[in-house]
Amino acid sequence: MAVYNPKSLKAEEFINHEEILETLEYAEKNKNNAELIDSILEKARPKKTETGTVCAGLTHREASVLLACEIPEKTEKIYEIAEEIKLAFYGNRIVIFAPLYLSNYCVNGCVYCPYHLKNKRIPRKKLTQEEVKAEVIALQDMGHKRLAIEAGEDPVNNPIEYILECIKTIYSVHHKNGDIRRVNVNIAATTVENYRKLKDAGIGTYILFQETYHKDSYLKLHPTGPKHDYAYHTEAMDRAMQGGIDDVGLGVLFGLELYKYEFAGLIMHAEHLEAVHGVGPHTISVPRIKKADDIDPTAFDNSISDEIFAKITACIRLAVPYTGMIISTRETEDVRTKLLRLGVSQVSGGSRTSVGGYTQQERPHDTEQFDVSDRRTLDDVVAWLMENGHIPSFCTACYREGRTGDRFMTLCKNGQILNCCHPNALMTLTEYLVDYASDRTKEIGYKMIEAELKRIPKEKVRKIAEENIKDIRNSNRRDFRF
Ligand code: SAM
Repeated sequence: MAVYNPKSLKAEEFINHEEILETLEYAEKNKNNAELIDSILEKARPKKTETGTVCAGLTHREASVLLACEIPEKTEKIYEIAEEIKLAFYGNRIVIFAPLYLSNYCVNGCVYCPYHLKNKRIPRKKLTQEEVKAEVIALQDMGHKRLAIEAGEDPVNNPIEYILECIKTIYSVHHKNGDIRRVNVNIAATTVENYRKLKDAGIGTYILFQETYHKDSYLKLHPTGPKHDYAYHTEAMDRAMQGGIDDVGLGVLFGLELYKYEFAGLIMHAEHLEAVHGVGPHTISVPRIKKADDIDPTAFDNSISDEIFAKITACIRLAVPYTGMIISTRETEDVRTKLLRLGVSQVSGGSRTSVGGYTQQERPHDTEQFDVSDRRTLDDVVAWLMENGHIPSFCTACYREGRTGDRFMTLCKNGQILNCCHPNALMTLTEYLVDYASDRTKEIGYKMIEAELKRIPKEKVRKIAEENIKDIRNSNRRDFRF
């Protein structure tokens, strides 16, 4: 039997089944233990120190107790602290991105995904470089600066060389004042050598969803294809880090397995990365399973309510306070509005989840990976964020300035967000407003920028930001950053 060891590089030791079962038992036993819950909440709360605000985070056991807790007032406290942490480390900024589907060829048999090999109902499509260009121009014309590229796993149709070529094409397109400044990559687990190639191609975050941490379920849900190998998939982030990628993004596909099990596994995975590589995950995504071509989400009996989903999000925020959290258009506007208060720091907007979807007038469904719930345009999403008090940010400065991995975390921990990320958000929002926004969005946006500039603590930084914003409004100069 594998023994739990967060420092091990073996999947079954750092995501240890027995440790998860014991954690769930401990959480169940203590779910009404008010005294213990209070002490965990106190630990999670941000604390002011001489060098800035710090947050201790929580262990997977502590966080699991909060997730199991059934005392309504304590749950309210969890939500309160989640918002406090979000504001302390990320401010009121929300980073915006869009997915770009390159290819739906796939040799895997994932039972929840319409791209599975045996699905003969969907047309298979892979973008040519000319089509990648056209998609990127369409995305730039919406105002996007940051993409997450997505592809099925197929060593013949989508080899690493194809992915690298697409990345090169994406970075090479400069249409009007547009450019894509950060390409995150969500492709199947691969080798250290390939991760190094992705790093050299200038990617931002490498994202790979675990789908489920429960090994037996994992094997059943991925019955065929290379993804069937649980250890290879679970150990992918270690290989990515060995390949030099220090921003990695975790995620669970909620609905496949019992959420409490997944939650404990997810936090253990974050602890493992911190223990081995000295830096936790850059982001955590919280996708829920959705309807798609031949996929019926009700066939999976672990679906979770919006309330539980909100609680999971808040508990992740408390457990890993410095990690960005991503919510996609799988969720509705209502759910997204609620989650934004509980610690989410990135959202996608105007997304199409089909191969070639951005260049088509009508939203195509035949190659869609999942049904999009939030179908608003990017302009609507930007306006909605501002109306809810969030600053939409198109910033991509950190990794371009070498602030990745622990260097980004240091910035976050030192509370330098207001002197760095905040002005960057305002400058990139100005770019968006000048180049792409509707009149209504412009009006809301300029008001917000004026008010937010006053919140920059360092006078020198504020002055530079004001000058740059003037420049963006009055000229074609773009891409200022701290
Ligand atoms: N093929 C790559 C892999 O296997 O990791 C990555 C890309 S896949 C296009 C992106 C993610 O979409 C998957 O990791 C999965 O979690 C999610 N997904 C698949 N089917 C889904 C569905 N029916 N509803 C919601 N999300 C789904």
